[in-house]
Amino acid sequence: MDFEAVIGLEIHAHLLTRTKIFCGCSTAFGAPPNSQVCPVCLGLPGALPVLNRQAVDFAITASLALGCEVQHTSVFARKNYFYPDLPKGYQISQFEQPLALRGAVHVTVDGQTTRIGITRVHMEEDAGKSVHAGGSDAGKSSGIDLNRSGVPLIEIVSEPDIRSAAEAAEYFSRVHAILTWIGVNDGNMEEGSLRCDANVSIRPVGQQAFGTRSEVKNVNSFRYLEKAIEYEIERQTALVSSGGRVVQETRLWDAAAGRTFSMRSKEEAHDYRYFPEPDLPPLVCDEARIEALRSSMPELPDARRQRFIREYGLPEYDAGVLTQSAELAEYYERVNQAFASPKANSNLVMGPLQQVLNERGIGLADASVPAADALAALTALVDKGTISHSIAKDVLVKMFDTGRGAQAIVEAEGLAQIGDEGAVVAIIRAVMADNADAVAQYRAGKTTTFGFLVGQVMKGSKGKANPKLANALLKRELDGETSQG
Ligand code: ADP
Ligand code: MG
Ligand code: ZN
Repeated sequence: MDFEAVIGLEIHAHLLTRTKIFCGCSTAFGAPPNSQVCPVCLGLPGALPVLNRQAVDFAITASLALGCEVQHTSVFARKNYFYPDLPKGYQISQFEQPLALRGAVHVTVDGQTTRIGITRVHMEEDAGKSVHAGGSDAGKSSGIDLNRSGVPLIEIVSEPDIRSAAEAAEYFSRVHAILTWIGVNDGNMEEGSLRCDANVSIRPVGQQAFGTRSEVKNVNSFRYLEKAIEYEIERQTALVSSGGRVVQETRLWDAAAGRTFSMRSKEEAHDYRYFPEPDLPPLVCDEARIEALRSSMPELPDARRQRFIREYGLPEYDAGVLTQSAELAEYYERVNQAFASPKANSNLVMGPLQQVLNERGIGLADASVPAADALAALTALVDKGTISHSIAKDVLVKMFDTGRGAQAIVEAEGLAQIGDEGAVVAIIRAVMADNADAVAQYRAGKTTTFGFLVGQVMKGSKGKANPKLANALLKRELDGETSQG
């Protein structure tokens, strides 16, 4: 029997406020344990929460960017459960009346675009962190760090519209791109700023009803998400195929072992005994506030990608890569303003520039990165044929290292392309003399040796021969002699 996977994601995203959602404590990551706490986020009796206005603005902006309808009234509730890192014994969250409903994100996998519906976006507070010191058995003690208790979160719940692990990872990465783009989240998954729970079930192909799901908690990388879901699909398929049944449960992903394992049986919503939070009035967001936030939003990744295709005539692929971050998209546009050759600029930004950034593990904000107009000057040299695309990388590395301009480096190092016929022919003749066998093979009809000979000519010129010219002249030299002989 063939099965199909059904997947829905719950993404938790920290909001980049300076202070916590219900108190004035700092949200900064990495401070000594319990140094950013007060009676409110410690859950001391009698302490009262006050809602952070900036957190609401960020949550509204995120909801709009995710295509949701922001509700004029939403309500905070208490979600009751006992956990050491939840000092109040309940988490303040939104339940029956969340902040926003009915959004969507479009994802493209293998050229196929799918709409993933978003059920809801709601606001809540994060819990603290249990710190298990010294490994499983060492000290037999755990500590609680409550610095994270009360950090503002939004939870983004998707419809069960996802059908594969790859699609889930792509959806998660689109949401990551959108939230970081609009500046409400720092995208730092290692620090837990963005986490994801994956709900996975399988059903026989053609069946309408969903199967029983398992929920894999707190996955914090795109790759792990994909692997965890793949593992779950395989596990459930094997189970059902051998006559077993999937039980509804919460599972954890073990990255080292490459598998998920059962943590606890799934609690139902009624176990939480949600009830309205009496200490917070309903959250009222009027249309004026929502519209003001909507109009101050930057152009979103999807819109900008479309514009890059329309305005610059870029291929879909280039437009997708260049709009992976707002920073990269803006840099690219500045390069274009300085030298209007969109595809040549795109080649240089996606190719050599990204390579150097990756090799050095730096971002565009690094001081060594050439300014956009300096990069444009490099494109211009490639575009004019002064230097080849392959030399451009070397020039760029020197621009990073010395801060000098492309033209100056090309002149000082004699990197200009050899466009002079006589000089290229001289190199070709030398190569032909050194590779008499290959020449003979070519002339005997084995034309595949042509590529090898071109390679030798480029090498002989230290990469500086104009490739088009080298090709044409080599062909002439090889074919011309044959017709004479
Ligand atoms: P909770 O997990 O907190 O009980 P929900 O019932 O709202 O919350 O569902 C959470 C997520 O599970 C949603 O993203 C939803 O799309 C997804 N989901 C629901 N049913 C299934 C299913 N049978 N298979 C896979 N995902 C599902
Ligand atoms: Mg859930
Ligand atoms: Zn506090």
